[in-house]
Amino acid sequence: MDNCLFCKIVNGDIPSKKVMENDRVLVFHDIQPAAPVHVLIIPKKHIASMNDVQAEDLELIVDIHKAAQEAAAELGIAKSGYRLINNCGQDGEQTVHHLHYHLLGGARLGALTGISSSHA
Ligand code: AMP
Ligand code: ZN
Repeated sequence: MDNCLFCKIVNGDIPSKKVMENDRVLVFHDIQPAAPVHVLIIPKKHIASMNDVQAEDLELIVDIHKAAQEAAAELGIAKSGYRLINNCGQDGEQTVHHLHYHLLGGARLGALTGISSSHA
């Protein structure tokens, strides 16, 4: 899709630090890591958000989970553990409107926090 940052990364128009890819998914390092390991897992197909995932995308969701497993193993965090997060919409603080999952690890991440002080 035109004007989508992550479609541009998929097409190679914007560079990324790739971890792995296949014909359906791409894993690359987040430009502003929030943990020692922070990568993004995206479908190559443009899907704007989790709200737009359709039944026909079921296989893609499995592919994304497989890619998360593979990336975690490759990045050495499979045993120590990790967190997989999808931000959806305004309240979820989604800033890039191409479905993506954050894979975070490499340190104890602490409890999941909800409302941050800046939005409370
Ligand atoms: P979200 O807030 O869930 O929409 O996450 C978007 C993520 O994309 C943020 O963690 C950004 O740091 C990351 N990001 C933005 N631009 C780039 C880029 N060019 N390469 C890698 N990650 C990016
Ligand atoms: Zn896109």
